[in-house]
Amino acid sequence: MYTQMDNKFKELFTRQKENQYKIGNSTYRDRIKKLEKLKNALELTHKQKIREALYKDFKKPFLETDLTEIYPVLGEIKFAKKNLKSWMKNQTVDTPLALLGASSYIKYEPKGVCLIISPWNFPINLTFGPLVSAIAAGNTVIIKPSEMTPYASGVMAEIVKELFNDNEVALLEGEVEVSQELLKLPFNHIFFTGSPQVGKIVMKAASEHLTSVTLELGGKSPTIIDDSAHLETAVKRIIYGKFTNAGQTCIAPDYVLLKANLKEEFVSLFKSKIAEFYSEDAENSESYSRIVNSKHFERLVSYIQEAKLNNSDIASGGTYNAKDNYIEPTLVFDMPKDSKLMTEEVFGPILPVKTYEHIEETVEYINSKEKPLALYIFSKSKKNVDFIMNNTRAGSGCVNHNLLQFLNHNLPFGGSNNSGIGKAHGFYGFEAFSNRRAMMKQHTLGATDFLLPPYTNFKQKLVDLTLKWF
Ligand code: NAD
Repeated sequence: MYTQMDNKFKELFTRQKENQYKIGNSTYRDRIKKLEKLKNALELTHKQKIREALYKDFKKPFLETDLTEIYPVLGEIKFAKKNLKSWMKNQTVDTPLALLGASSYIKYEPKGVCLIISPWNFPINLTFGPLVSAIAAGNTVIIKPSEMTPYASGVMAEIVKELFNDNEVALLEGEVEVSQELLKLPFNHIFFTGSPQVGKIVMKAASEHLTSVTLELGGKSPTIIDDSAHLETAVKRIIYGKFTNAGQTCIAPDYVLLKANLKEEFVSLFKSKIAEFYSEDAENSESYSRIVNSKHFERLVSYIQEAKLNNSDIASGGTYNAKDNYIEPTLVFDMPKDSKLMTEEVFGPILPVKTYEHIEETVEYINSKEKPLALYIFSKSKKNVDFIMNNTRAGSGCVNHNLLQFLNHNLPFGGSNNSGIGKAHGFYGFEAFSNRRAMMKQHTLGATDFLLPPYTNFKQKLVDLTLKWF
């Protein structure tokens, strides 16, 4: 028996399904026009509303919203506008000699009706970013944003409603149940961004209809600092990567592996840079966000309490305030290997550091865990960088910086196994929402026309000869 919600979603899904060929047959210019409308909303008409919404959701500073929510989507749109014409073209490929008389090409066809499920941590970026790719590829789309950032979801719902008919793009707000009901429908593709735990639920549901999936997941992204690194630059960049969005970033450095002899200098630089970025009192800094809700706040506080119980070295920070889910930028040394800080994705402003003596220890430690979404190394030693990159696996990486790989639209973005399946951004995002249809066209008589039954000795000889050409 279907509930009211089921019926509403089924009806919307059916209308998008009926509309999919019209949208799919749209020209390059039609699609660019839609992307321009979205650009206009983000850059002009709704920019201030977006900033205010994110401030209400978790006190995200306006400048950080511009940089990490609006700018990346505008970048995706600009890149798609520049390249979409060539992405949409049939891609000619070689044809083997044995198939003489034929030509071959790949036709990028839209997948059809797609579902985008997005997280709360960069709600605009991680909802509209995939939407740009889905529109560029000619799909109809149903979006379910996170229930944890209701103000951001509200503005996005308003934008989608203003720009699109719902048989083309629709956004459904609501609790987890909305996602659960949507996942019962036979979508042609699901693009999910969130945790590995929920990623498994999504993949299981998708398997019912053999729906293809892109899973953009998370995990513990390691950051190595060896003793050839420029330490001050490393600390400055890691603090930026870790404490932007109050650490609630999928590719933020989750933990640091630090050459043991650098500890004292690292702590001193950490304290001075934190004060420089967020003043002596980060709680009153206008540049520092809050934790998204009390559930995540309590999870993070339990990590700090665990560090205190373990008598771990809390070298900086460690205070918090439940009043508005504030957690001070915190640095913790040498937590036990089985502690929550060293086993679970931190996803907050606490930086655990583990010291090492020999570079081999870092590889051993990283490889004892799931493949991370990103892996960073700060080093001037080519030997160490090559050693780390050749002996570990990760979705992405950056040498002597962090986060930046997300911003280059020429690079595929995504994880590997536990940190994700499939890639996003630029052409890779367009590809995720497209089916590569394999096409051949026979122009003249081909070899196979001479190999039809009845099979004679002459034809056998012809086959023996032809097989050599494959
Ligand atoms: P989440 O997995 O809890 O939720 C993501 C989305 O799934 C939300 O829209 C939520 O409503 C929905 N959802 C939650 N439970 C569900 C269920 N049982 N069935 C169906 N849908 C369900 O993740 P989150 O807390 O919003 O985000 C944090 C996680 O996302 C972290 O692990 C982080 O690393 C990861 N992340 C990854 C990327 C990336 O690009 N790879 C980007 C941002 C965040």
